[in-house]
Amino acid sequence: SQDRVFNFAAGPATLPENVLLKAQSELYNWRGSGMSVMEMSHRGKEFLSIIQKAEADLRTLLNIPSEYAVLFLQGGATTQFAAIPLNVVKPEDPVDYLVTGSWGDKAFKEAQKFCKPKVIWSGKSEKYTRIPAFEGLEQSPDAKYLHICANETIHGVEFKDYPTPKNGILIADMSSNFCSKPVDVSKFGIIYAGAQKNVGPSGVTIVIVRKDLIGNAQEITPIMLDYKIHAENNSLYNTPPCYCIYMCGLVFEDLLEQGGLVEVEKKNEKKAKILYDAIDESNGFYRCPVEKSVRSLMNVPFTLEKPELEADFVKEAAKEKMIQLKGHRSVGGMRASIYNAMPLAGVENLVAFMKDFQTRHA
Ligand code: PMP
Repeated sequence: SQDRVFNFAAGPATLPENVLLKAQSELYNWRGSGMSVMEMSHRGKEFLSIIQKAEADLRTLLNIPSEYAVLFLQGGATTQFAAIPLNVVKPEDPVDYLVTGSWGDKAFKEAQKFCKPKVIWSGKSEKYTRIPAFEGLEQSPDAKYLHICANETIHGVEFKDYPTPKNGILIADMSSNFCSKPVDVSKFGIIYAGAQKNVGPSGVTIVIVRKDLIGNAQEITPIMLDYKIHAENNSLYNTPPCYCIYMCGLVFEDLLEQGGLVEVEKKNEKKAKILYDAIDESNGFYRCPVEKSVRSLMNVPFTLEKPELEADFVKEAAKEKMIQLKGHRSVGGMRASIYNAMPLAGVENLVAFMKDFQTRHA
């Protein structure tokens, strides 16, 4: 609509307009219940119907096998950096981390408190611009799991297929590409994602975990981090982030209405191509440092040949209602996050602006 901006933020991020309008229409009185979702008991029949439908729709979207539990948790993906080792390994156990950006690095560092993680490959010395060939990876022989960050939000590096762990299970942080494309869940022991990029507001973290991995938490595991507690109680052990779960449910419904993740991926590919093409065809005025084969469909980092123009770029874009284009403080440059909910028109506007900006400043 007229008064909304195109928000390229990395998260919290733009939400689908129709989802916001639906939430608005239901805010004051949810479906005749006489109250808003924010006021409901999490154990009442109304909220139970909301969380059950959200889970069922997510299961349909991602085709989640019945051997997997779906948990709606709090504490962000950052809490899972600790919860994962606490739940699935012992303090002396070796585990592997493939580090393709700063989120994978943070996950590794947190795991050091709870087990014996090893970085089997890091892209740090190359400023996190690629993913190694899987064949050459030297996985630890006894690693209980291999952890990857499926999409590095800051560096814009995305796995297009997945390594096979030698022994243990594959674990993926999918915070920034969750539900952006179909995923074969059965390849993973655990998939986890903060909601605030592709599927909802901040405040809820979704964990998809194979059920046989549940129930072996280390003794020191706080009750709030124990998957068993949450699985046994259908994510209702304590008060869950009810409104966030409701919003995620509306997003899942919307994704299903769009035709599911196969259709969603097509749209994401189209948007990303338009933007990467504009960067690659700018004769070096704009540049994306990421190796082409692993460029993220969700987060597009790019630099300007003349960095002194960056501030003007951000300011002028904002005047045209395109906001949050400044890159992460750790890498500089620009970053356009173009999650599911970014309309094609947003990307088209950005590309038109970039071309015009280049003409004026070349
Ligand atoms: N992993 C990735 C890939 C992320 O992008 C983020 C947040 N930007 C996190 C983990 C941390 O998530 P949270 O802030 O929800 O703890």
